[in-house]
Amino acid sequence: MESDKRQGLVFVVSSPSGGGKTSLVNKALESLPNLKRSISCTTRSRRPGEEDGVDYTFVDRLEFEWRITQDRFLEWAEVYGNLYGTPKEPIEENRACGVDTILAIEIQGARSIRQKYPEAITIFVQPPSLEVLEQRLRKRRLDPEDAVQRRLEVALAELEWIHQYDYAIVNDELDRAFDDLKAIMTAERLRVRRNPGPLPA
Ligand code: 5GP
Repeated sequence: MESDKRQGLVFVVSSPSGGGKTSLVNKALESLPNLKRSISCTTRSRRPGEEDGVDYTFVDRLEFEWRITQDRFLEWAEVYGNLYGTPKEPIEENRACGVDTILAIEIQGARSIRQKYPEAITIFVQPPSLEVLEQRLRKRRLDPEDAVQRRLEVALAELEWIHQYDYAIVNDELDRAFDDLKAIMTAERLRVRRNPGPLPA
């Protein structure tokens, strides 16, 4: 049947660090069917509560660099001194099987994905204000003070990239922001050119 040939979509969600993209992506995974998350590979050390193969695949730098030489990443980037990469194979499998993939990655990565998959749908999550972003970064208590400052400086520069995205969501309140994300994803899934099949029986 023609409609079985639907290719899986690729949703890329970016925000400055602390912008709330991970929580939004987790909510999408809980409530939308036919959606898988891309599990990135990283050289960063594991934070308390993080699980290998669930939050990230944690590898050392040598292993990461070897994977680069093997062309295992769709994109990769150095972020705050650590390497992060999107494994190619799972996304290609999802696309071929008609399963949508959602990625929570930073801005350089989103640009690279766009180059590889021009039809990828890119969504920028904005913090309601820089003050709120600063509070969130401190509340996470994941980073020492100098890293928080560095993340804020980078965030300021990153906010300029919003115009390169298809959509922007203000993450003022998680449930409300999620309503926006869900609306975007649902509308994109319903686009006629993505569903070339005949009328449903
Ligand atoms: P964190 O160390 O806080 O988990 O992530 C730092 C930044 O790296 C975040 O903005 C996160 O979205 C981004 N990131 C996570 N995985 C990837 C990836 O596979 N590729 C790229 N380019 N960025 C990633």
